Amino acid sequence: MSKIRILMLGGTTEASALAKALAAQPRYDALLSLAGRTEKPAPQSLPTRIGGFGGAEGLARFLRDEKFDLLVDATHPFAARISQNAAQAATITSLPAFCLRRAPWHTEAGDNWRHAASVQDAIAQIGSAPRCVFLAIGRQEAHRADAAPQHHYVIRSVDPVDPQPQLPHAHYLLDRGPFDVEREAELLREHRIDVVITKNSGGSATYAKIAAARALSIEVIMIGRAEAPAIPTVATVDEALAMINHLLPPG
Ligand code: NAP
Repeated sequence: MSKIRILMLGGTTEASALAKALAAQPRYDALLSLAGRTEKPAPQSLPTRIGGFGGAEGLARFLRDEKFDLLVDATHPFAARISQNAAQAATITSLPAFCLRRAPWHTEAGDNWRHAASVQDAIAQIGSAPRCVFLAIGRQEAHRADAAPQHHYVIRSVDPVDPQPQLPHAHYLLDRGPFDVEREAELLREHRIDVVITKNSGGSATYAKIAAARALSIEVIMIGRAEAPAIPTVATVDEALAMINHLLPPG
């Protein structure tokens, strides 16, 4: 019996977990695709390809040429372009497709959040008086802090921010989640942070900074997600496995 060919667009903790689950099931022949942003990607359980496809058309061509049966978009909730491409490629090829996207975080009692529409908006919302900012938004848009150089920044990313923003007061940290609440609280205290800027990524791996901010009564500027493309969406790896079974039932 021929195996079901699955292309999964990854780059997230959930994609790695789904990769592990698919690798354990002999009826699937799955390939994981990464953009190639991180210098040392975490080891994966599936064969992996790296790099862009050349837009939605390129992705559609790849799906056809390689005879895939299913497309899974398990990219980050803030990776908007590739998710649009995935939805378009599914339409072009008429292949079944769905998105694995973790649920966003919601406020809890004790949280002090301000909402921002983009990184640019979040930086503007820090205000004009100098503050101590923990900027935990990844390296790609850290340069937006250039617009408000009066603040003291602690900027954390997986890979170095390059080129670094033109900031007189910036401290760079390299680290990769999962993070724990006590260490995050220690970091916020050590750098006298009074505002945390984060994307509403959801999931548990990077939630500790939110819990730490709550415990220390520190303000959080929460950057909201762009509207997701119209494609069936599940929030967990178990739901993704059930969706694959539903779309391509055994036999
Ligand atoms: P993006 O802006 O949505 O995508 C830009 C281009 O990168 C896409 O048009 C595509 O190029 C290529 N690409 C993106 N993801 C790909 C994948 N999984 N496989 C092959 N090509 C891919 O993406 P981004 O925000 O730069 O994110 C890049 C990767 O990092 C994603 O895989 C995402 O899951 C991961 N990530 C992003 C964030 C974030 O905050 N944005 C955070 C954590 C992880 P072509 O058009 O040439 O195909």
